[in-house]
This record gives sequence, structure tokens and C-alpha cells, in this order.
Amino acid sequence: MNQNLTGLDPALAERFAAIVGERYAVREGSDIDPYVHEPRGLFTGVASLVLRPGSVGEVSAIMRLASETGTPIVPQGGNTGLVGGQVPDRSGGQVVLSLSRLNRIREIDPVSNSVIAEAGVVLDVLHKAADEVDRLYPLSLASQGSCQVGGNLSSNAGGTGVVAYGNARELCLGVEVVLPTGEVFDDLRKLKKDNTGYDLKDLFVGAEGTLGVITAAVLKLYPKPKGREVAWVGLETAEAALSLFNTAQDLGGGALTAFELIGAQPMQFAMRHIPDARPPLHGEWAWQVLMEISSGRSAADARTLMEQILSAGFEADKVGDAVIAASITQANEFWRLREMLPETQKAEGSSIKHDISVPVASIPVFIEQAGRAVASVSPDARVVCFGHMGDGNLHYNVSQPVGADAGQFLGLYRKMNDAVHAVVRSFNGSISAEHGIGQLKRDELIATAPVVATDLMRRIKAAFDPAGIMNPGKVI
Ligand SMILES: Cc1cc2nc3c(=O)[nH]c(=O)nc-3n(C[C@H](O)[C@H](O)[C@H](O)COP(=O)(O)OP(=O)(O)OC[C@H]3O[C@@H](n4cnc5c(N)ncnc54)[C@H](O)[C@@H]3O)c2cc1C
Repeated sequence: MNQNLTGLDPALAERFAAIVGERYAVREGSDIDPYVHEPRGLFTGVASLVLRPGSVGEVSAIMRLASETGTPIVPQGGNTGLVGGQVPDRSGGQVVLSLSRLNRIREIDPVSNSVIAEAGVVLDVLHKAADEVDRLYPLSLASQGSCQVGGNLSSNAGGTGVVAYGNARELCLGVEVVLPTGEVFDDLRKLKKDNTGYDLKDLFVGAEGTLGVITAAVLKLYPKPKGREVAWVGLETAEAALSLFNTAQDLGGGALTAFELIGAQPMQFAMRHIPDARPPLHGEWAWQVLMEISSGRSAADARTLMEQILSAGFEADKVGDAVIAASITQANEFWRLREMLPETQKAEGSSIKHDISVPVASIPVFIEQAGRAVASVSPDARVVCFGHMGDGNLHYNVSQPVGADAGQFLGLYRKMNDAVHAVVRSFNGSISAEHGIGQLKRDELIATAPVVATDLMRRIKAAFDPAGIMNPGKVI
């Protein structure tokens, strides 16, 4: 029996609710609301049941019943995903499975540099737990007050520390997953080296809940840096930013822990819409960079490295102006400015988003060509380009022309995406560098990825989830 087209049978809802207990089965409209909307308001689902299990055993029992009855399950963590992967469809037949009560840190081992965290542990909480044992969990996202370990892994989250530490996949040593059948795949091993056959854990990372439910994971920790310096840099061109990045890599090596590029337009929006925001530099700059250096040796070492990189940039005539944060408060202000950029765009009307990556060395040429592509679709649209330049990942967003009709501009969404993504593809780049596919980009993935790739994905999906109950309608 497939519940997808018919809504959820009330008797079946009772059986699911009995697994978690009435208190943790959410059914009232207003209580369900937070689980069926996502942060951008692009997708709103319909559900008559949200389950909040408190143990792996309960997740397993839910999946066994779902498998027996063909009930589609939508795993959900902090509900901060930006592609609609965590939101049910509008049939009313999908059950949302919230992992937020599985929120224990089962073990923290500073010597092995690892932590075993359950799927519902909020990223901020994990940061604090690592800090208490003098370690760093380096995944860093603006949504860290809400997003959770299971969601981070399922979306293979990126963020600002990727340039030094890699994304969520690279920070994961092992997983515990409940499969669609209810079986538990326990691979919670803290091994850095393990070449015993296919790497099954890697299939669940980035699968957006389409292959199984992650219930816990072993994550890597790092020694806490002893010194950190944050600088704000003004540059005339994107080529100059690339040159500075290269210098920072050469002189800083692994100490370069962030390299964020910010265009003039998002800076203008930031100054207009962030209360009390002050520009870190005088004057107008076509491009600005937030650069962070972390040293494992000492505060003085971080300072010296940062000064060396900036001096080299000035001498090569690439850096126009720069300021090193004078205090932790100022460093935090720089970061706040960067993190609030997406928010400030909302105040400027409607916008069309692109989360793309190209090889780092191609970024200046990409920016030039993508600018022409945008103008060919909407000549007065405003390009809002910022992002994790060190990873080749830009949030290449486009805001509506001043005074334009918001709805009319959004009518260009598809055309704009096609134009910008065509440029991305010409660099062999990615149309989803860190936010995933979800519902938002599923059709485009299927239409544009090599047939061999989508075919392999379908075969993997069928092998793990033959009944198609794991987050149907997402990814593939
Ligand atoms: C302000 C803001 C800033 C952001 N910045 C970044 C950024 O810099 N980099 C970045 O990569 N992302 C960013 N994001 C996107 C988002 O925060 C991340 O994708 C995050 O990792 C999602 O975690 P979550 O717990 O909210 O997952 P959810 O949104 O709940 O779910 C995301 C996906 O994972 C699946 N899922 C969730 N939990 C599980 C589980 N336990 N088992 C199986 N599947 C599961 C869901 O079905 C869904 O497909 C940002 C979002 C916001 C709102």
C-alpha cells in the first residue's frame, strides 16, 4: 500500500505514534507548521504526522513499519536546508521524522581527536563540547545555532572552514544509520585508516536522507588553534583577490582557515540594512576579502603570518587597503558582516540564487562571463556575488533591478539559472557546491548530469531503498 497519493491513514498514524508515545507524535496543524516550512519560504509541505523518536530502537521500529506499509519518510534535522530536502511534499501522506531528540554526545576522545555525536546534536552545542576538552570541531555555518549533525552530514555541509579542514564528509570517520528496512548499520569506528571494501559511510554523507536515517556519527576533532588573526582587505579586481589567495596559500599553508570574497553590491546592501554596521575599510572597493589565519603554535605566529601575507600583497600591488582586527570583538564584527550578507539581500526585493563552484583559478573569468550572462537575461539586475573563494564556491546571486516588480523578476528564475549554470558548466563546475539538490535542483540535475551518473545514482538508490520510501522526490 503506498500512502503517497492518499494522505496518511489514521489507523496507520496511530501505529506510528505508538512507537514514540503520544507526547512525541506531533499532529496539530500549528505544531506541525515549523516542520513543513523551510527558511527561504520556497517550499511548503503538508503533513499530518511528525515523529520525534528518542532512541535508535524507535527509529528502527518506525522504519520497519514504514517499510511494511510503504509509507514515505522525510528525515529532518534543524530544518535549515536551503533546497527543500527536509520538507514533505503536499500529498499529506509523508511522515516527517525529526531527529532532534537524539541529541546526546555519546563519547568525546581528545587523544584520538574524535567525538561520537547523535544526529540531533546542534552544531553550536558540538562546538562547545569540543571547546571544553580543548579541541576544535571546525565545521562552521551561519546556521550553526539550529542545524544538526545528521543534517550537516546528509547535506555534506561546507561553510567557512572548508579551505583548511574540508567539508562535512572529510570530517566524518564513521556513521550509524537506520536503513529503510529498519536494520541498523553500525559503522561507528574512529579509524583514520580503514581500507576494507567499499566506503559505505560515504554514500550516506550528502545523500539528503534518500538512502537511510543517520542516527549518530564519529566526527574528527582538531587541536584548538593557539592564535587567530582576521583581516579585511580591499582590492580593485577579482584577479587581485586570486593573487592574494595564492600568496596566502604559499605563505600560510594549512594556517589559512578562511578566504571569503565579497563584491561591492553585497557590501552596499550590508551597509544599508545591517543596524550599526560600519565598513571595515575607507572608500569603495570593487572586491573585499575576509581572510583568517590560525596558528597551532602561538598568537604571535598567527600575527606574523598575517602581516607577511598582507605585506606581500601590498608589495605586488594587489592589495589596495587592509585592516587586521584589533580585538576578538572586531574579528567577530567582521564575521558578522560576512554572515549577514544573505539576509540583507532580502531587503532589496526578490532574488535569484546560484550556489556554484568552479576551479579556484577560474573565478575571475567566471565572474566576468557570468556577469554577461546575467545582463543578457535582465540588463539592470544587480549581481550579488560573495562566497567561499578559497573553495571555488560562490553564492552568485542576482537581485531584482531597483523598482522592478518582484513577481515579474522571479518569472525569470529558470532563464537566469540556465544562463548562469551554462557558464558554470563551461568550466566543468558544479550547480550545487554546498546546499545540495533536494527538490529545488532535482529536475536540473536529472536533465544535465551525465546519463551514466544519474543511472548509477538510481541503481544505488534502488539497492538501498527498493520500496522508494526514503525521502521520495528528492535528489534523483
Ligand atoms: C542562514 C543559513 C546559512 C547557511 N550557511 C550554509 C553554509 O555556509 N554552508 C552550507 O553547506 N550550508 C549552509 N546552510 C544550509 C544548511 O544550514 C545546511 O545544509 C545544514 O547542514 C542543514 O542541516 P539541518 O540539520 O538543518 O538539516 P535539514 O535542513 O533538516 O535537512 C537537510 C537534508 O538532510 C536530510 N536529513 C536531515 N537529518 C538527517 C538524518 N539524520 N538522516 C538522514 N537525512 C537527514 C533532510 O532530509 C534534508 O534532505 C545555511 C542555511 C542557513 C539558513
